[in-house]
Amino acid sequence: MICANKECAKNFNAKTHNQKYCSDECCRVATNRRIMEKYYEKKAIRKGAKRVCLKCKTRLSRYNESNICAGCQKKIDINQKNKLLRMINEVG
Ligand SMILES: [Zn+2]
Ligand SMILES: [Zn+2]
Repeated sequence: MICANKECAKNFNAKTHNQKYCSDECCRVATNRRIMEKYYEKKAIRKGAKRVCLKCKTRLSRYNESNICAGCQKKIDINQKNKLLRMINEVG
């Protein structure tokens, strides 16, 4: 196993199949980093960092924490609904 802590990336023998880090310390460091990344991402959003919709490139509202705008989200929802309806019709 390679330690999932990128700064460590040491080869180690995992004691359990779901062990991702070589040590508790690496686990702690990696978890902390993930929390901080989320924190800074949220902070940037709140400060009004410019984010655009992945689909139509519309400017996203700072209150929208997803990567697509409400309009595109609606279209996706409708598409999924239509797909489901078509599937049901094909079966019936
Ligand atoms: Zn490690
Ligand atoms: Zn959009």
